Amino acid sequence: MKKKSILITAPSGAGKTTLVKKLLQDFPHLEFSISAATREPREHEKNGVDYHFITETMFKSRIENNEFLEWEEVYQGSFYGTPKSEIDRIYGLGKIPIFDIDIMGAMSVKKILCNDVLSIFIAAPSLQVLEERLRKRHTETEERIQARLYKAISEMKFANFFDKKIINDELEVAYAELKGLVEKYLSA
Ligand code: 5GP
Repeated sequence: MKKKSILITAPSGAGKTTLVKKLLQDFPHLEFSISAATREPREHEKNGVDYHFITETMFKSRIENNEFLEWEEVYQGSFYGTPKSEIDRIYGLGKIPIFDIDIMGAMSVKKILCNDVLSIFIAAPSLQVLEERLRKRHTETEERIQARLYKAISEMKFANFFDKKIINDELEVAYAELKGLVEKYLSA
């Protein structure tokens, strides 16, 4: 049987993590690929569930050992990577990995997994909405919000590289579209 995987990418604040969580609730066959990250955990986040939170030194030694499918310094001083072991773990469970990663990392994954991945780009309806969403989270400093917005401007240019693009204006509408795409992909 053909191996499948799902890749969701977006500029920070476009709502992709919420959409991924909804997919995980609706499709028991999907399993979240837990990335390694060097940033501090947010209050509600759990190590080994949301991310494997590790030090920069550990992260760099894992790069040296070729343990990542891809990795990026997504924001200055914050490294994120997809461990190859996650993919083995998920296929070992007989499940389908779902990746929630930044746009540069997603481009790498798409190149590596080629036809074995459905790649979806989530866009916010406007930069203004993106900014409002980032501020509402109350998780980022002003400096980090500005860095994320600055990055989002250049990231929007990559939308067409992916299989599908969904504009997340109304969450339920965007989710219905996403769910339909995933259903079709999984049943093909
Ligand atoms: P956050 O700090 O908000 O959790 O994540 C910041 C960005 O890093 C998000 O776009 C998130 O999807 C992305 N990210 C999470 N895990 C990975 C990963 O393994 N690789 C890459 N390249 N980006 C990731």
